[in-house]
Amino acid sequence: MMQLSADMLALADEYGINPSTFPLLQVEGGALTSIGAYLNEKGLSKAVLIMDAQTRAAAGDKLAALLERENIHVQTIELLANHHGQVNADEASLVQVLVETPGDIDVLLAVGAGTIHDITRFCSQKLSIPFVAVPTAASVDGFTSKGAPLILRGVKQTIQTAAPIAVFADLDVLCAAPRPLTAAGFGDILGKFTSLLDWEISARVGGEPYNALAAKMTRHSLDTCVDHVEEIAKADEAGIRILMEALIESGLVMQVLDFSRPASGAEHHLSHYWEMHLLETDKRQLLHGAKVGVACSIITELYKDWIEQFDPSEAKGAYAPGLQEHWEEISLMIAALPTPEALQYYLYQVGAPASAEEIGIGSGLVQNSLNEAYHLRDRCTGLLLINQFKNKQISYPLQDRISSQ
Ligand SMILES: [Zn+2]
Repeated sequence: MMQLSADMLALADEYGINPSTFPLLQVEGGALTSIGAYLNEKGLSKAVLIMDAQTRAAAGDKLAALLERENIHVQTIELLANHHGQVNADEASLVQVLVETPGDIDVLLAVGAGTIHDITRFCSQKLSIPFVAVPTAASVDGFTSKGAPLILRGVKQTIQTAAPIAVFADLDVLCAAPRPLTAAGFGDILGKFTSLLDWEISARVGGEPYNALAAKMTRHSLDTCVDHVEEIAKADEAGIRILMEALIESGLVMQVLDFSRPASGAEHHLSHYWEMHLLETDKRQLLHGAKVGVACSIITELYKDWIEQFDPSEAKGAYAPGLQEHWEEISLMIAALPTPEALQYYLYQVGAPASAEEIGIGSGLVQNSLNEAYHLRDRCTGLLLINQFKNKQISYPLQDRISSQ
């Protein structure tokens, strides 16, 4: 059983949350075998397993057999892929689950990665049936959070829904997951370099809510993964446990705060912008963490350029006084970020794509996102400030911008 840290208990206390409302967390080899006993203990004897063809093969069929042995009545829903061969958290998937879930079900089990959890999370809340998370890859930090990013009428929007009652993360399953999924989980964690920085900026310049303990805990998740990048790259039990526990902790912090600021800054805004473009042009979707990792290195490069070139005394408008007051501190925090090359090397080490080009995102789209993505969230970030105070369009690649000046 994964124990909640003293910091997590203190954070919950600060927000008046009873820790007994947290999901039960098990991150162990063979965790699938514990689910039946847990469901029986809770009196949840009729279960629906929600999965796709890949996660059925990775864990779903095995889990169904294990549960039946424990006298759990099991039904399965295999989500159908779209014409790109992908399952999205969109109307088609949501309706499939709502239609195929019988009326007398006690519990839903999400057997898959982030998207299957988002679909299940939403349906769990709408059907008033609790759900159990059974991640099949350490690929995102959203397993324990309440926010479900859904694609509705082709537009992505995050809806606050339900958190799982338990998470059973079987390390045998996670270690066998396709490498790009694990690499994406690491990318989602790496994004915290810039999301944490943006949270500091939003608090100082935007006057937005901030919590030092939550920032420290998210920083701890990040540092632990960076310190153990080689083990994570090996995808052995030790490395995957470190990554999965960091992803769960980060998700729990968001669940307690009931907002995503510590783990979602300008790098996530870029990622969302690219994702919307792929939806609009009916392209295959990319893994969330793959986009976030790449975007983190691009945002870091932009921010480091910013502190080299920007003179805050020339700033005007609502954010100018706050920026001028805190500029020295903000500059130091940006200078203390790893170099973009160091971030790219971490990504390379775990086998993640390290550049926009590698994930098929063209320079034109990156450039548009740098100039427009800050509109996507009502949140003060470094990216928003750069756009507020720019006197011409940000061009990409960034090196060209510097050399042309
Ligand atoms: Zn993320």
